[in-house]
Amino acid sequence: MKRTIRLILLGAPGAGKGTQAEKISAEFGIPAISTGAIIREAIAAGTEMGKSAKSYIERGALVPDEVVIGIIKDRLAESDCEGGFILDGFPRTVPQAAALDEMGVSITDVISIEVSDERIIERMGGRRVCKKCGATYHVVFNPSPKGENCGVCGEALTIRADDDPAVVRSRLDVYHEQTEPLKDFYAKKGLLKIVEGQEKLEDTTALTFKALENA
Ligand code: AMP
Repeated sequence: MKRTIRLILLGAPGAGKGTQAEKISAEFGIPAISTGAIIREAIAAGTEMGKSAKSYIERGALVPDEVVIGIIKDRLAESDCEGGFILDGFPRTVPQAAALDEMGVSITDVISIEVSDERIIERMGGRRVCKKCGATYHVVFNPSPKGENCGVCGEALTIRADDDPAVVRSRLDVYHEQTEPLKDFYAKKGLLKIVEGQEKLEDTTALTFKALENA
C-alpha cells in the first residue's frame, strides 16, 4: 500500500518541476496541480481571472497572492485530491505557504529541485509546451515522440511567451527574492528535501522518487 503523498515541488522556473510532477503523478496516481497551467488556461479562455493575470505572467511577475490562493483552495476541494496531490508552482511566497497552513492542508513532503541559474537560462530556449493538454517537452533533453507535435494529444507544440530570455532573468530574480525563502520555511518544519537536478531528466526522476521513499 503506497502512503498518501501531499507534495510541494519547489525550484526555480525551468528546474524541471512540471516534468517531475508528471512522472510522480503517473507513478502514484495523484493529480499534479500547476497554478501556472491553470492561469494559462484561464488566459486562453479569456475569463476575468485570466484577463487580470495576463500582464503579470507576461512580464514574469507573480500574480497576486489572493488570486492564486483562491485558485488552490478551489482545486484542492475537488474529489481527486482526496488521495493526495502534487503542487507544482504553489506556494511561491511565504504568505501563500501560510495560507495553505490556514486551510488546514497537511503537507507530507517538500522537494526542492536545484539547478543553477546559468543552466536554467541555457535550457529555457528549448522548452516546448502543449497548450491543449499541458504536457511539457525539451527539444534536446525531453523531445516529444511526435517532433513538433504533442506526444500525448497531437496538438502543435508552442513556446511560452515568458520563456523569452529577458523574462526568464526576471523570473529567476523573483524566485530568489520571494520563493527561495520557502526552503527555510519548510526546513524548519522538517519537511524539506533537496534534489540536485541532473543533466538527464530520468536521473532527476530517480533521485526524486528516492527522496519520496525516504520520507
Ligand atoms: P509556472 O508555469 O509555474 O512557471 O508559472 C508561470 C507564471 O504564472 C509565473 O511566472 C507567475 O506569473 C504565475 N504564477 C504561477 N503560480 C504562481 C503562484 N503560486 N503565485 C504567483 N504567481 C504564480
